[in-house]
Order: sequence, then C-alpha cells, then structure tokens
Amino acid sequence: MNKKIRAKDGKLDLSEFMNDNDLNAYFKRQAKEYIDPDEDKSLLTDKNRYFHELNLIDPIIHALSDLGYHHPTPIQIKVIPVALKKKDIIATAQTGSGKTAAFTIPIIQNIFIDKRKGKSYLRALILSPTRELASQIGDSITEYAINTKVRQVTAYGGVSKIPQIKQLEKGRDIIVATPGRLMDLIELGAVDLDRIEYLVLDEADRLLDMGFIDVINAIINRIPVRSQKMLFSATIPNPIISLGNKILNKPVRISVGRPSSAVDTIDSYVFFVEKHDKMRLLMHLLSTEKMNRVLVFMRTKHRVNDLVKRLRKEKIKSSAIHGDKTQIERERILNRFKNKEISLLIATDLAARGIDISDISHIVNYDMSEEADIYVHRIGRTARAGKSGKAFNFCDRKERRYLTKIERLINKHLIRAENYPYMSDITPPTLTILKKK
Ligand code: AMP
Repeated sequence: MNKKIRAKDGKLDLSEFMNDNDLNAYFKRQAKEYIDPDEDKSLLTDKNRYFHELNLIDPIIHALSDLGYHHPTPIQIKVIPVALKKKDIIATAQTGSGKTAAFTIPIIQNIFIDKRKGKSYLRALILSPTRELASQIGDSITEYAINTKVRQVTAYGGVSKIPQIKQLEKGRDIIVATPGRLMDLIELGAVDLDRIEYLVLDEADRLLDMGFIDVINAIINRIPVRSQKMLFSATIPNPIISLGNKILNKPVRISVGRPSSAVDTIDSYVFFVEKHDKMRLLMHLLSTEKMNRVLVFMRTKHRVNDLVKRLRKEKIKSSAIHGDKTQIERERILNRFKNKEISLLIATDLAARGIDISDISHIVNYDMSEEADIYVHRIGRTARAGKSGKAFNFCDRKERRYLTKIERLINKHLIRAENYPYMSDITPPTLTILKKK
C-alpha cells in the first residue's frame, strides 16, 4: 500500500498513517528518492583557482584536500591573501560562502609559522554570537589545523566551564568564544587576552543585534591595539560602520558579489495564506513535494512548541530547537538532524545563523521574518556552499509588508507560488518596485 500522504482536492488525507514508524519510513523513502539535480555543479568554488596560489602552506593544503576542498570560494580568494599579510579586514559575506575557512585558515597558518619559535599561548580570539556557530568554527579549525600543532579551544555558555578551563591550562593558540562565556573566563583568570594578535568578530551584525556591544567594547579594550582585526558581517548597517571605524586600522573592504549568495542559488517561493491555514499548507507541501530535510522557522519558541504538538496530533514527527532547550539538548537535536534521524526541524531564529548542515532540501519560513536580513540568514541554511535548495515563505495578510522589505533588500522578487490549496482570498499585493540593476 502506498503510504504517501495525499492531498485530495486540496484536503489532506492522513488516514493511511497509522503511527510514527510509518511516517519515518515515508521520510526515509523520500530521502532515498531525493536526488540533488545540481549535485555535480553544486559548489560555488572557482574551478580555475587553487589553494596553493593563495600562498598557503602544504600542511594546510593537504588538510583541505582531505576534506574535499580542492578549489577556493570567491570569499576565500579575496580574504586569504590579505589576511595572511595581517591586514585589517571588513568583509560582507553570507553564510554558506565559505567565510569560516576564509578567516580561520590565514590565522592557523600565521600562528603555525610563528609558533615554531615558541610554545602555545592565546594568540587568536574569534567571537561568535551563538554557541552553535562557535562550535562549528571550533570544529573547522581543528580540521584545517590537523597537520599543524595549532590548537583551539571553544568556549560557550550552557555547559560546564571546567573542561574549557582545563584545555586553556594545557595551552591553546586560538579561542573561539561567545561573548558572555569569554567574560566569565576572563573574570576567573582562565583567559588572558594580553597577547592576542588576531581578533575576528564573526556575524558582527548579529553580535550587535544580540546586545553584546558593551561586552565587545570591554573585550576590545583588553586586546593589544596592534593586533590584526577582522570583522565579518552579513549586512553592514550603521552600528557596524561605527564599530569598524573605531576598531579597524586602514581596513581592506571585501565583499563577494551576489552570485555566490544563497539568495541567488535557491528558488524561493511565496505562498499567500491565512495564519490559521499555515499548518495545513505545510502538511500539504510535505506530502506533495520531495522535502527530505526540512527546517521550519517560526517567530517564537511558544509557536514552535505549539506546532510540534499539533503536528504530532496529525502523526507527523518533528523536533523543536529554540533558546529554552539546554545546550546539550540543542546539540543532540542538531546531531540527529545532521545524521538524518530527524527530517523535520522546527526552529526559532536562534538556529538561523551559522548552523552548517549540508543538504537541507527546504527552508520553510512559516512566519515571515520581520527583519529582511534575517531572511537572508534563514535561507542561508540551505544552498550551503552553492548547493541548490528551495525556500517556501508563508505570508499572511499582516506579513505582506515584511515581504516588501525582503524583496527590497535582495532586490529580487520571490516566486509567486501558483495552484496551491489554502490560498488566501485577499488580492495578492502588487509587486515590490525594485532598484534598476
Ligand atoms: P561557511 O560559509 O563558512 O559556513 O561554509 C559553508 C560550507 O562550505 C561548509 O560546509 C564548509 O565546510 C564548506 N566549504 C568551505 N570552503 C569550501 C571549499 N573551498 N570547498 C568545498 N567546501 C567548502
């Protein structure tokens, strides 16, 4: 018997689903069926360029090649040579562009070269807005530095300080940290920033959005003025310009053109739907589209929990990730999502930044993002490193103004979905007027 959920006249028929096992089997089957049409041409790396042209040393080039990185991405081509010269940088880079490697690799190489002369002490600080992003940056450094003696420690809240302190006592070259935990460790005397030579503020716009400006100022005041500073941000609003003016010394400005951003590599559809019909529409899409790994974004943790419960009643299994979950729970859920044990993850924007899970097939913006740049981050969860993906945006009558904001920011119209059930009766809004290209 075919257990696929079917939409009949726009109405869902879930009767064939007896239990969660059936549903899991259904998702597993879908995962098998799903073939990424762009698999071969997926990476937005520049196939005519190689890492050795960027003055990288063999131990690092070998580590990259073992990871399957054969060609650099545009942001890496621009950032690596400048960063190796220890110049300050302000870079606009989207998630999924390969920015983490762009700033970590030169730091690893410079430390490796210097370190031959002495032992480990903290030379580099990378600040990240979220624990998840910090953990991913830390893991990437460990991978890229595998053939060097450069070692990192990752420090974030929500978990015990003791293992972090023990690692610091052993001697570490790089610390990747969230601002709050870093301050705790400084106050405990476990971290000393006196000899920092490299500072990176990753997702700087997000760091400021999250209200970390005072902590960042306090941290910067403890760092030697002559250290190399790199500021990476998806957007460059005024507060970032002020921060840059304050801390950067003759920075090189770097941005990669739109073609490399997720905004252009994924098909983003808008569905005009009323708020009370959104769940039915989601269920319809789950049943009719090949959605093998789906990340759904909602505005509040309350709404996330509520949707998970309502889906469960309909025998659709999903997991929630938001700020109320402990760090351990969040990591466990993300790992299960990465390992494909979970196919449907419902999240608040906490999960929108930095989470690096390749081949998420679909992003569903169940609630439109109120801020246009959050949209860019959300859809940056799919189309990682140039893979293709789809985004479905559910836009109710009150959210139409957010759609306009998004379309203005990305200077592109989202595709208007056609012939779908639960379409709102209200006349669709007129197309946003875009800037001339
Ligand atoms: P990021 O924008 O730093 O979050 O990186 C996005 C993804 O691209 C990560 O999964 C990286 O491991 C991967 N990646 C970064 N640079 C390269 C490269 N040159 N070749 C292949 N994959 C890469």
